[in-house]
Amino acid sequence: MPEVSGQEIHTSTYIAQCLQEMGIRIKKNIAGYGVLGILEGDPDKKCVAVRADMDALPIQENNRSAYQSLNQGVMHACGHDAHMAMVLGAAQLLSTNRPQGTVKFIFQPREEKPPGGAKDMIKAGVLEDPKVDGVIATHITNAFPCGTIALADQMAMALADDFHLSIFGRGSHGAEPHKSLDTILITAQVIQALQNIVARRVNPVYAAVISIGTIHGGTSQNIIPDRVDLTGTVRCLDVTLRDEMLEDIHQVLSGITSAWGANYELNYIYGYPPVKNHPLTNGWVLDAVASLKGSLPICLQKLEHSMMAGEDFAYFGLKVPSTFFFTGAGNQNCQQPWHNNCFDIDEDALVFGSSVMATIAWKICSEQKQEE
Ligand SMILES: [Zn+2]
Ligand SMILES: [Zn+2]
Repeated sequence: MPEVSGQEIHTSTYIAQCLQEMGIRIKKNIAGYGVLGILEGDPDKKCVAVRADMDALPIQENNRSAYQSLNQGVMHACGHDAHMAMVLGAAQLLSTNRPQGTVKFIFQPREEKPPGGAKDMIKAGVLEDPKVDGVIATHITNAFPCGTIALADQMAMALADDFHLSIFGRGSHGAEPHKSLDTILITAQVIQALQNIVARRVNPVYAAVISIGTIHGGTSQNIIPDRVDLTGTVRCLDVTLRDEMLEDIHQVLSGITSAWGANYELNYIYGYPPVKNHPLTNGWVLDAVASLKGSLPICLQKLEHSMMAGEDFAYFGLKVPSTFFFTGAGNQNCQQPWHNNCFDIDEDALVFGSSVMATIAWKICSEQKQEE
């Protein structure tokens, strides 16, 4: 019963009920429908948080499985149902085999809809009282087979910004272009130049994307329009690079439009920051995978390139050490990418994600909290 961003009503009620049945204390309705589970332990020991996102996407599911969506037009096409199941699985393991310190289970709403729910949950204090020493989350992916835990050294996900751009000129009859300021021609030059920012301004060893997604201008074949509107997205792994690219975008826009006596307006929307893994929490994941090797067919894969999608888990990493690892869920039948209407996972993957998170919490929460 998937629910879209900001409407995770039944999902959050169900999660809260599951946690309560495990004897875990809960706080409900945080930042909308967010839920915090607190498995309380010795305050002098470390505190670990594990996080799952809860929202689904406005997509009509095209799978025929026993667990296909019952909600028309809404689907867990990003696997957030799997994330919730894995964190609940970890909660189950830990509630029956309690660590010495406190574990927090963060169920976060609105990941798919910027500005997202993570920031608001942090503002509501989920990382405080007791203070969390590190946060772990995972994203399921069919890019790796079931049994794989994929971990990036540093950059796991890109920053993701959007923009709305308008080019303003002067309209005229198509037969009299000399009386116009032709926004169609100017737009053609602008698009070329924007792509050349990536090709000629960004150092080629860094990943960067500028994509134009929509372009709208004109009403008839013989009218030069006085305005063209475009939207697009900017992705890269580094906030300094983003600032440089934004400066270049303005320079290109102002140079080209002013050369033709036209104008522009750019509405640039800052999205989620990049997801950067911390060496401390990466160590926790590596340790957990190593210690699970005896009992599970688990294998660690080093993620050579970051994913260029965005994730608001990034905000946790700005506050405390955090790691975002990927849980492989692919098999012969489960090959579809995120946000596809046939996205499905090998459910055996859930055991691996749950086990890694539970093992981390169990080990780290037995350590003494460091004096501040
Ligand atoms: Zn998604
Ligand atoms: Zn997702």
